[in-house]
Amino acid sequence: MSRLIDELRKLPGVGTKSAQRLAFHVLRGTDADARALADALLELRAKLRLCSVCNNVTDVDPCTYCTNPVRDQHLLCVVEEPTNIATIEKTHSYNGVYHVLHGTLSPIGGVGPEQLRIANLLSRLAPVAADSDDGEGIREVIVATSPTTEGEATAAYLAVEIRRIAPSLRVTRIATGVPAGSDIEYADEVTMTRALEGRREF
Ligand SMILES: [Zn+2]
Repeated sequence: MSRLIDELRKLPGVGTKSAQRLAFHVLRGTDADARALADALLELRAKLRLCSVCNNVTDVDPCTYCTNPVRDQHLLCVVEEPTNIATIEKTHSYNGVYHVLHGTLSPIGGVGPEQLRIANLLSRLAPVAADSDDGEGIREVIVATSPTTEGEATAAYLAVEIRRIAPSLRVTRIATGVPAGSDIEYADEVTMTRALEGRREF
């Protein structure tokens, strides 16, 4: 029991109390449930890895986004986590490729640029600077990190670094503002300011 609790506590966001609750849940459950959980964990490790190009979770390397000829390989969207890809895919309004950072910069949390997958993002973009108009490589980078303090800091850092290695590359930030279906009466000042800044022509 304590062995399982110790292992569960290593998971992000799981404290001792939660770990105990999860362990007791497994203990009270069926053998089949416990085995299904263990199998899922082992299979994840055995079959899934990170794409060597975009760092997305995949069972083939490079992943299906990176090798899909129907997708626009000149348009790249930078996201924080692999799960963000599903959110963007659901819109059916993006057909480019991705780059997953696996986190955001957080000086307080001890996450610097070296802890994120930034180096292989810059190496994907570097050839553009050397060979700018050959039709190969990335032409635009959309930075789609969250509009949180860490997400904005990460976006600002990336914009500077990308401009440094590929000055001719178009670097854009996703718009933020008033959520669809909400009343602007309830928007805070930061949200409203961004909504005004990000306004567009009809
Ligand atoms: Zn990939």
